[in-house]
Amino acid sequence: MTTDSSREVYLDHHATTPVDKRVVEEMEPYFTEQYGNPASKANHSFGHSASNRIERAREQVAEGIGARTGGEPVAKSIIFTSGATESDNLAVRGLAEHAQKNDIGSHIITSKIEHEAVIEPCKYLEERGFEVTYLPVDEYGRVDPVAVQNAIQDETFLVSIMAANNEIGTINPIKEIGSIVDDYEGVWFHTDAVQAIGAIDIDVNEMAVDLMSISGHKIYGPKGIGALYTDLKIKNKIEPLLLGGGHESGKRSGTPNVPGIVGLAKALQLAVENREERVEHVEHLRDQLWNRLSNELDSVVLNGHPEERLPNNLNVSFPNINVKELVRMSLTDYGVMAALGSACASGEDASHVLEQITDDQDRIKGAVRFGLGKDLTEEDIEYAADTIVNEVELTESIFG
Ligand code: PLP
Repeated sequence: MTTDSSREVYLDHHATTPVDKRVVEEMEPYFTEQYGNPASKANHSFGHSASNRIERAREQVAEGIGARTGGEPVAKSIIFTSGATESDNLAVRGLAEHAQKNDIGSHIITSKIEHEAVIEPCKYLEERGFEVTYLPVDEYGRVDPVAVQNAIQDETFLVSIMAANNEIGTINPIKEIGSIVDDYEGVWFHTDAVQAIGAIDIDVNEMAVDLMSISGHKIYGPKGIGALYTDLKIKNKIEPLLLGGGHESGKRSGTPNVPGIVGLAKALQLAVENREERVEHVEHLRDQLWNRLSNELDSVVLNGHPEERLPNNLNVSFPNINVKELVRMSLTDYGVMAALGSACASGEDASHVLEQITDDQDRIKGAVRFGLGKDLTEEDIEYAADTIVNEVELTESIFG
């Protein structure tokens, strides 16, 4: 094995991505030169140009996710937030508050493997009188659209199912679910598309999605910026989480993060424009890594769907070894950076996603997530594969 103590191979792109230099360039003037507050647009030119720029970014984001009417982007459908955690909360809690106030429903359908940013608001609402159905998934982590249909009842006002899972990379049949939900008057469909943007074709109209969460830092944009797409039919029904100066059409008070918004719009534009090329590249690297691991390690098991999965996701279990030590010590020593379960969860509990696809405790405890990225090379993957194989074999020979 080639060891290179200075080499760093970052395989944790589901946790976050580096900001693309073109995104940084686009953002830069909005820190130091065009730093006006968009709320001052009526007072002076700095405020005016900041306001114009975020309105253009709103249009770009709407364009990037296919939010168009008559061929034109529906800029008003975009609410800028501090990230997808806020977008998910705004969608779920914002709509729940409206439903409660107007007595139009008390039931939510979601899945057992959603991100915490959806699960926790649902639990919060359960404590406040709402009923939540957490749908199970199959052995690959997919939600069955028929199960969604069967769970809809008179009180249902919201279905929230993620487009792709952040741990095992499984892609859900969002179009099918969207078309089912669309048939029910007064039931809205939210999807957390954080990991799917830039990986699969996203068109909110084709997917019949009413609400969609987006995050900047998962698509080579900055951290601390996100957006919630809302169909205009539903936008006025969302109750804001933050009250204040009435920014973002009253749905999200707080001075807008202008550089972040500009960066999010640019990152999304690049993700959409270069999608096929990026997908082909990361898929190739992902397959290269999987081929090495599966050919050389008898014990390795693939988690998630073999085909319907994010092109940059490889989630595997090494059932016989202590993967905490593998990831946090052995691999880190060689500069190979991977993740245990979800990096977004701060706790040490077993992954709630893996627990839904298997009962095998060794597989659950032995799961490691590799998230490939657009700037990696075949050489990086060879180095990472050498390191992983070596370290797993070494541990197995000592403890196996
Ligand atoms: N939803 C999913 C599927 C995610 O993977 C993440 C972050 O890992 C989030 C929501 C939260 O996004 P943010 O970091 O922008 O709050």
